[in-house]
Amino acid sequence: MTTANLLDFDLAGLAAFCERLGEKRFRAVQLFRWIHQKGAARFDDMTDLARSLREKLPAVCEIRPLKVMAQQESTDGTIKWLFDVGDGNAVEAVFIPEDDRGTLCVSSQAGCAVGCRFCSTGHQGFSRNLSTGEIVAQLWFAEHFLRKHLKTSERVISNVVMMGMGEPLQNYSALVPALKVMLDDHGYGLSRRRVTVSTSGVVPMMDRLAQDVPVALAVSLHAPNDTLRDNLVPLNRKYPLAELMAACVRYLPAAPRDFITFEYCMLDGVNDQPEHAQQLLALIRGQSAFYSGPSVPCKINLIPFNPFPDSGLRCSPRPVVLAFAEVLNAAGVVTTVRKTRGDDIDAACGQLAGDVLDRTNAAQRMAQRRTTETRPVQVVRRGA
Ligand code: SF4
Repeated sequence: MTTANLLDFDLAGLAAFCERLGEKRFRAVQLFRWIHQKGAARFDDMTDLARSLREKLPAVCEIRPLKVMAQQESTDGTIKWLFDVGDGNAVEAVFIPEDDRGTLCVSSQAGCAVGCRFCSTGHQGFSRNLSTGEIVAQLWFAEHFLRKHLKTSERVISNVVMMGMGEPLQNYSALVPALKVMLDDHGYGLSRRRVTVSTSGVVPMMDRLAQDVPVALAVSLHAPNDTLRDNLVPLNRKYPLAELMAACVRYLPAAPRDFITFEYCMLDGVNDQPEHAQQLLALIRGQSAFYSGPSVPCKINLIPFNPFPDSGLRCSPRPVVLAFAEVLNAAGVVTTVRKTRGDDIDAACGQLAGDVLDRTNAAQRMAQRRTTETRPVQVVRRGA
């Protein structure tokens, strides 16, 4: 009999598992709280579980963490972990502390099949989907590691962004239970507003997410017309802008926020010209040759591109980025330029294209130097 990984279960799944063992639902709640709220990895530590159950569990299940291959901390408090997911694959999670929140960027796949031009994960190709347990294990490890090192029993991670390696909506069946664990009051108790799924535009799965577990949505846009987006985000050939923007409009009634976040990686001379800003405005207003329909309430996040070998792309100069933002802001579209975080450990604040590629580069470099790296991790208290 295969030993089940209890990190693979949302609460309903754990209740079903317990039932198969002849146990009542409240046992599942106890187990779930021990695992996710207290970070227990051993059944012996779960002192309010009946001894008979504690003795029964090790034969049929375990709490299976990911192996940490490397861990680095930036001077700004950003911490990244490289996790071994077997067969030579590694994924990365990044913790970004801010004064009012602690955000964890989580990976959903080893590699990615979408193949965005500006993303080194995409250049590496797709290896495999992560299981629910492997997605949850990133949060489980980070939360309880941070609590221990900050010497606090209070929650440290207040926000999760599914913006690490992989396209989460191409791993939908593993993603949904993982999101439910994050949201469950017996689990991490995060609000739907504080859990964000980022997609390059898997339209049918956006509709399903709205039905199944409508969390905040970020869309990797990166181009204001189909010709350019076909080139930068190949999934656009399957789900062009007209379908993507319409899917955003359909998502909003279920969304916990009244806007979609559009991510836009700034690429020198490619998508960063004034005419692109104007095309982008027309697109989100539904007055574009590529999408005509209701306007899409949104915020736009401009991401400075982090070059990587063979990309053939450069980051837009800072004045160009600011000028692009100014066009959008002047037209009333809230536009921010992403701050980079963790530069000294190559862990720019986590999301989407530019950041994903940055983290992926970091993962490659970390893997290369992990045998020589000896710097101890020091965790800086948030807001310090
Ligand atoms: S940007 Fe995201 S969707 Fe595109 S290749 Fe990279 S990981 Fe995949």
